[in-house]
Amino acid sequence: MSVSSTWPPREGRRQAILVFALALGAVAVAGAPPDDWTARVVREPGAYALVGDLVAGRLYPAGEGAVGGTRVPAGSWVKPFLAYALVVCGHIGEDETILCEGWRDPQHRCWYGPGHGRLNLEQALAQSCNAWFRRVTPRLNPDQYREAVAPFFPVSWSASAAEPVTAKQWADAFMDGRLTAQSLTFESWSRALAALVMGRRVDWPAGTGARKLILGPPMGDPAALAAVRKGLRAAAAGGTAVELSRRFGSDDLWVKTSSSQSPHRDATGRRPDEVCMVAAFWPAGQPRAFVALFVPRGMAATTAAPLAGDVLRDFCRWRRMRP
Ligand SMILES: [Zn+2]
Repeated sequence: MSVSSTWPPREGRRQAILVFALALGAVAVAGAPPDDWTARVVREPGAYALVGDLVAGRLYPAGEGAVGGTRVPAGSWVKPFLAYALVVCGHIGEDETILCEGWRDPQHRCWYGPGHGRLNLEQALAQSCNAWFRRVTPRLNPDQYREAVAPFFPVSWSASAAEPVTAKQWADAFMDGRLTAQSLTFESWSRALAALVMGRRVDWPAGTGARKLILGPPMGDPAALAAVRKGLRAAAAGGTAVELSRRFGSDDLWVKTSSSQSPHRDATGRRPDEVCMVAAFWPAGQPRAFVALFVPRGMAATTAAPLAGDVLRDFCRWRRMRP
């Protein structure tokens, strides 16, 4: 038995290592992602990630491929779009504060039960405050909102525009999730959010494997884009994405988390599933890499955010980018 403990012999082991190294080299040349970050996504049941190299213009998917083409509730991913539209239309000043009293009754509902207190736009995005966005949404009318954010969406809003929306429905649209009722696919939401955050059109072809990622020319209102980015930076520095920043090793990020429930019950009428999403762009200012992650459990701040931090960190190492 003592002989077997030294198996394989030194010579053989060295050869095995050499063969392994050559195989890794071949994988790197072929452009296939290494296992460390893809395996992290695969190990999380039902998870799916789109990871982008914005310098080389490549998009890499990992995990449950079917999620990409599945319609998902945008949840809090809609908040940066609301913030953008509010600023563009002159309905909010960056210094204006609104009181969040937490979860008290149907008129006062925020995911953070004790309440966030008084928040300005930057803080409302950083904390993803529901009460804040519920209060300000009625300042926009549906047409203003759609017109302001349309350039960022890869598909038209015509389907939702045809729906009759009363003033009351619109006022409740945010908390009822109706702004997201015409849910786009996870890939479409990821593209729209990437376009808004970077202020550029973002395109990639449909498919399942590694793909080309094309950045278009700058677009969007500079002041409104700046206001949104300030909030997403604050989310990474001290808001809902602190766990992501900690795992990634830097808070020089633009991040938006989202926790919601699927609007669709399954065939057995089971409770809707949790849907967590997080999109992170590094570095803030001139992103070189991003991750858009879907995790069907828990709260985004504690399930999707840490995993996204790990995935983005390992991806950047693989692409030889250092946080
Ligand atoms: Zn709140």
